[in-house]
Amino acid sequence: MVYTSTRDNSIRVSASEAILRGLAPGGGLFVPESIPALGMSIEEIAKLDYRQTAYEVMKLFLTDFTEEELKGCIERAYDSKFDTPDIAPVKKVGDVYYLELFHGATIAFKDMALSILPHLLTVSAKKNNIHDEIVILTATSGDTGKAAMAGFADVPGTRILVFYPKGGVSKVQERQMVTQKGENVRAVGVKGNFDDCQSAVKKIFEDVDFARRISEKGFRFSSANSINIGRLVPQIVYYVYACGELVRQGAIKPGERINVTVPTGNFGNILAACYAKKMGLPIERLICASNENKVLFDFFESGVYDRNREFILTSSPSMDILISSNLERLIYHISGDDSERTAAFMAELSEGGRYEITGDMRERLSDFYGGYADQAMTARKISDLYRESGYVIDTHTAVAAAVYDGFRKATGDDRCSLIVSTASPYKFTHSVMTAIDEKYGNTDEIELADELEKISGTDIPGAIREIKEAPVRHDLVYDRTELYKAVEDFLA
Ligand SMILES: *Cc1c(COP(=O)(O)O)cnc(C)c1O
Repeated sequence: MVYTSTRDNSIRVSASEAILRGLAPGGGLFVPESIPALGMSIEEIAKLDYRQTAYEVMKLFLTDFTEEELKGCIERAYDSKFDTPDIAPVKKVGDVYYLELFHGATIAFKDMALSILPHLLTVSAKKNNIHDEIVILTATSGDTGKAAMAGFADVPGTRILVFYPKGGVSKVQERQMVTQKGENVRAVGVKGNFDDCQSAVKKIFEDVDFARRISEKGFRFSSANSINIGRLVPQIVYYVYACGELVRQGAIKPGERINVTVPTGNFGNILAACYAKKMGLPIERLICASNENKVLFDFFESGVYDRNREFILTSSPSMDILISSNLERLIYHISGDDSERTAAFMAELSEGGRYEITGDMRERLSDFYGGYADQAMTARKISDLYRESGYVIDTHTAVAAAVYDGFRKATGDDRCSLIVSTASPYKFTHSVMTAIDEKYGNTDEIELADELEKISGTDIPGAIREIKEAPVRHDLVYDRTELYKAVEDFLA
């Protein structure tokens, strides 16, 4: 499998090179030259456990990894770091199915990919005779940072620096990051929002002179952000696994299709679902759920992507994003894999913050349905679902569930539905508990975990128990204009 760039089709690299580089030269994203067919029926898929599914899917994309290398990565990633041997359980609630992606080290979906990325990266370095220390730079809107720090902590030959918007992440998310152990990790608060952090990281990655300067000191940048294909490919796995699980639970039979609703920010998770569909998984519609930062909803409605708008801090902070980086890959595919056109759109985006796709491109978006839910709808969904079923969902998942309700009402489509559950409610206890009852408004967020345990009948996850006592290890704050200095300080 060859990987090329969304902005330059003359670039051709192997999977391991694409993983190592993160971003393609010239600022494009790596994409596989073609999407491989899964080549399995859903009954065959239903016979596989999570790790076996991971191998069958990932081997089709990471063709320069040996069987032994890939299986080694999978075994080190999907082990007892997850609190259930299922890794990604599917729970039936009412007549819909929730795909729970929050059973890893940091109780959110980014663990699914970030627990395997460090292993893919160190194997990739070895395969390409790289001896530099790999420096991971990551911008986070909350969850990626901790999940990446946990994944890379004390992995030999790597260092990781995380930028997060100071005041723009939940208290639990911040505590999870600032208490992270490991000699090679650092979290830095930035006076700015997530897009400031992400733009700075992109700029540093694209800065050839800076890369040369740090390479003289034996360092090499790589990315753990969701633009890395080493993140994207492991995310395809759980859609395939979920289909197998739906067969095992008797929810679908061969020939039937499902709808998938994904709470979306950077467009990585739903893009993986789109790739799974292209591989042949029986998915009908891909329902893209946004919060009040509904730049994607507007894009699906009008064909115009326009980031020139107010940035809103919501109760689903990991979706508070105005530049959905992974959308570039979809733009590339619907343009007919045309890197010149994609590059032109991305130039418009970086200059004027806006672009409009053509009519022929819009026609290729018919698999998608865009919806959004505001904070009141999100809170009401958490409360209604709890009262109907006793099942407690987090704010991100609730955005998806509320959007799915709207989709069903608007289209009358009631086929088997999978809602992607991206975080444990224990990660956003304040928003979740006050949605259920306003009386929790003045209780400390971390103490609210005890209350949630009582009302939901689920155990407090280890990730939450740990941060109650852990000491703060990272307290640096930089202005958004000082992020080069933050990198230099870290490497000094
Ligand atoms: C990152 C994240 C999302 C958004 O996923 P994307 O791949 O960025 O679209 C949704 N929910 C939670 C809890 C997340 O951490």
